[in-house]
Amino acid sequence: MLSRLFGSQRVPSFLYRVSLIMKPQVVFVLGGPGAGKGTQCSKIVEGYNYTHLSAGDLLRAERAREGSECGQLIANYIKEGKIVPVEITINLLKQAMEETMQKDEKKFRFLIDGFPRNEDNLQGWNTVMDGKADVKFVLFFDCGEEVCIDRCLERGKSSGRTDDNRESLEKRIQTYLQSTRPIIELYETHGKVRTVDASRSVDEVFADVKAILDKEG
Ligand code: ADP
Ligand code: AMP
Repeated sequence: MLSRLFGSQRVPSFLYRVSLIMKPQVVFVLGGPGAGKGTQCSKIVEGYNYTHLSAGDLLRAERAREGSECGQLIANYIKEGKIVPVEITINLLKQAMEETMQKDEKKFRFLIDGFPRNEDNLQGWNTVMDGKADVKFVLFFDCGEEVCIDRCLERGKSSGRTDDNRESLEKRIQTYLQSTRPIIELYETHGKVRTVDASRSVDEVFADVKAILDKEG
């Protein structure tokens, strides 16, 4: 059937085939470390038909996977608060999207949390995903540095994360300011950013998130 559709050429990837029927709809979720991206994404998933994919969680899982060729490299980047090379991150994201849609074709809405974090991420996305997914908008959790650091230090008491300490956090904040903010600003020039004041309580933040999602569909 597929070879009839696509002739004798190489059979295209699952994501490509499925995108001919239902293109993945993507919301990029950005904000500083500890802005509450993960917290809010979990709440969104409860009430809306979205699948949450966290770039950081996918990288941590790959770091822990037995036999992973890039586990050590990922570990070093995370500890240093640096951005992991895009080929690794984008493959993990693409694979997770494919697996989700393969299991249930109605699950084509994704919250991609912590991506694109820099110019390299954005270029990688544009190259690999061009025409294969629609980016609806960027959900930006705007939160001051001090609040972000305090939340991560609090999270660090139980998270077991190697980067929830003051030294790593200072580097992560720098990476965020230098590399991620310009990406948010770029999307802003295209009118694609929905900003939420994330310094308030979880419920207050979520009320704004709901208003955005109810409006955007
Ligand atoms: P991110 O995914 O942006 O790094 P998290 O969602 O993991 O951030 O939140 C970081 C920490 O701050 C967690 O311990 C979380 O429970 C807490 N937190 C998240 N949102 C809020 C909020 N609005 N007010 C207070 N604490 C919050
Ligand atoms: P997070 O869980 O979003 O706080 O991310 C933790 C760490 O994972 C970051 O400091 C980076 O080292 C790495 N990371 C997360 N997202 C990305 C990404 N999009 N590209 C590269 N590295 C990432």
